[in-house]
Amino acid sequence: MTRAYNFNAGPGPIPTPVLEKAKQEMFNFEQSGAAVMELSHRSSLYEKIHFQALKQLRDILSVPEEFDILFLQGGATLQFSMTAQNFLEEDKKAGFVLTGSWSEKAKKEAEAFGETVVLASSKDSNYAAIPEVDLASVEESLSYVHLTSNNTIFGTQWKELPAKGNHPVIVDMSSDILSKQINWKNVDLAYAGSQKNAGMAGVTLVFIRKSFMEQANTSLPPSISYAQHASKDSLYHTPPTGAIYITKLVTDWILDMGGLAEIEKRAEAKAKMLYDTIDQSEGFYTGHAEPEARSLMNVTFRLRSEKLEEQFLQEAANAGYMGLNGHRSVGGCRASIYNAVPLEHVEALRDMMIAFKNKHK
Ligand code: PMP
Repeated sequence: MTRAYNFNAGPGPIPTPVLEKAKQEMFNFEQSGAAVMELSHRSSLYEKIHFQALKQLRDILSVPEEFDILFLQGGATLQFSMTAQNFLEEDKKAGFVLTGSWSEKAKKEAEAFGETVVLASSKDSNYAAIPEVDLASVEESLSYVHLTSNNTIFGTQWKELPAKGNHPVIVDMSSDILSKQINWKNVDLAYAGSQKNAGMAGVTLVFIRKSFMEQANTSLPPSISYAQHASKDSLYHTPPTGAIYITKLVTDWILDMGGLAEIEKRAEAKAKMLYDTIDQSEGFYTGHAEPEARSLMNVTFRLRSEKLEEQFLQEAANAGYMGLNGHRSVGGCRASIYNAVPLEHVEALRDMMIAFKNKHK
């Protein structure tokens, strides 16, 4: 079977063993004579998948018992406003650390429900850096602080989340969830769309500290209340059963691979391979992110001219590479190397980049 060299930023590749398993079970899941997507979400067969996925996510990410894990819909984008609806109080503000377009969008969506304030921003450097922040020194009375752990478009990432100050902390982890362990001490709510490291598009993973959830606005429609979804184990309404099934298979795959320790090692090796290629290219390729802010998930780079970039992207596309163009808002090139991208595909990309350089330098 031919699998593309898939460097898409999301939806991205899904591990081949996951797709194979889904294919094998597609028409007859556990002798039921039906596909998972054809089962009732109230059936015991489906419930087994649902609760196993929750349990394996908890195990893999060492999620403490003080947190609930939820399966919601509406993508990370709905979380931008749902967090504000639940937690932004009338007499307080939500504090944003701006590290890219997604944090800007999160702030904008929250503004429909209350006031926001920028605590720090790296916009001046065209988001090539992660700003310094000391959350303990924020004196303003905030309902919460919002961070983006990995900036998919600009290719930067917090190496470690900042230590928590006096305010609850909400983190968008859409593009680095399941790539490394999380220090839960510094987080009260984390959310992530599934379509990068956690499966196919359609389910949003939410990790929420129960004591924080209790502080939420209680006059909301139940469908946008975290507490309502938590009280029904994310079965308040029909969940995206097919997407949750794929997420469950992804957690099986992570466990088979040796858990997050192994995943993290592979992520570091893959990213190093591409950053070394950029750094050793004598300026032929230049990285967008400052070295200390470089993302292990999205490697952003430019070539000498837009014309050369176009040529690079065209040659790459002709050779079967998918998704190497930078986000339409910034241009250039971007290789997203999520968990399901095999090391061999990154090696192939490295070799292609070196060959292209040797031809055009
Ligand atoms: N946050 C980040 C960091 C993202 O990368 C994305 C999607 N690329 C989103 C939010 C938006 O996610 P969705 O399209 O699932 O709403």
